Amino acid sequence: MTLPAELLTQATALAPQLTAWRRTLHAHPELGFQEVNTARLVVKELEALGIETQSQVGKTGVVGHLGSGAPVVAIRADMDALPIHEANEVPYRSQTPGVMHACGHDAHTAILLGVARLLTALPDRPAGEVRFLFQPSEESADAENKSGAQRMIDDQALAGVDAVIALHVDSNLPSGQLSVGDGYTSANEDSFEIWLHGTGGHGAFPHQGIDPTFILAQLLNALHGIRARRIDPTKAAALSIGRIQAGTVANVIPHQVYLNGTMRSFEDGVRQQLRSELSQALELSRVLGGDYTLALRHGYPAMYNDPDVVRLIRVATRDLVGAQALVPATPMMGAEDFSYMSRLAPGAMFMLGARKDATERPHHTPIFDIDESVLPLGAAVLADVACRLLRQKAS
Ligand SMILES: [Zn+2]
Ligand SMILES: [Zn+2]
Repeated sequence: MTLPAELLTQATALAPQLTAWRRTLHAHPELGFQEVNTARLVVKELEALGIETQSQVGKTGVVGHLGSGAPVVAIRADMDALPIHEANEVPYRSQTPGVMHACGHDAHTAILLGVARLLTALPDRPAGEVRFLFQPSEESADAENKSGAQRMIDDQALAGVDAVIALHVDSNLPSGQLSVGDGYTSANEDSFEIWLHGTGGHGAFPHQGIDPTFILAQLLNALHGIRARRIDPTKAAALSIGRIQAGTVANVIPHQVYLNGTMRSFEDGVRQQLRSELSQALELSRVLGGDYTLALRHGYPAMYNDPDVVRLIRVATRDLVGAQALVPATPMMGAEDFSYMSRLAPGAMFMLGARKDATERPHHTPIFDIDESVLPLGAAVLADVACRLLRQKAS
């Protein structure tokens, strides 16, 4: 049997175990940097395989080392859940009110445990180290604005890594289909808070003060004009305002307007330009007699999929289940902190179609769920690509 065929056979045999892991994790979700029981399960399973394991990497993360020496190929799974109350009536429903695996990170963790099983049992695993990165807190950053990937990198989890791969389940993509794009596949993300300052005053005497809602009206045009008139139209960018608040009653001009929004881009140069154009647009408030305060929060960088790693993922998928499983990828402006890892070593993340049924079950909603029958395929692809990378990086 060829290696892909062998891996797929073994992964298919693991299906009941993969589902059991996923359901245990799904029933007991933990928020970012609180993945204590999840990490305990991961450590127990890795140690049962004889894999050298480190705990509390990046706060609540776990690193497993299978094999040693160069090359080093890392595979990452995120472990955190979201502050959402599950609405699904399923046997494996979340047992923790208000917390739910609504992005599929339970599946990622189960799949990576499966990869560890597959590669441990593989008789002729290529030389080098496979490093299993069970990452905390992809969905949120801590008080110092660092997410799980950054914390794991700070703790040297990626030291010496020659390549890094990951997958993300996609509840919208047909089950069993796979998509992986070259180059930028998720966005740089920065969020901003703006306080526009005027003086406020009596609604009957607007001429006696500075009305920040009038400044807001001019500013909105300037802000939405950044993407339309200032950014090169061939470059990807988005600026959206999600929240505007001002005032309390009809006859009082507010003294302040609050805005909260997000900016997305692929290229770092565009990210910089968005930041500087935002500041420049805000100067309008001063021209009009008011003032502003800006707080910019730097979010995740854009995810860049290395074309060579992408090619290996496509070849592996084709050899495992046939070329028809590969569907074209569309880049999106969401954000994903795997991008920190794939900036340190050539890497790529692919999307694994896991649509459960006819109902739309979007990520981050109370009815999110996946088709568990895709778990073996995810494990087989990751294991196969890891072997290919080990061989490629060794030569
Ligand atoms: Zn998510
Ligand atoms: Zn996610």
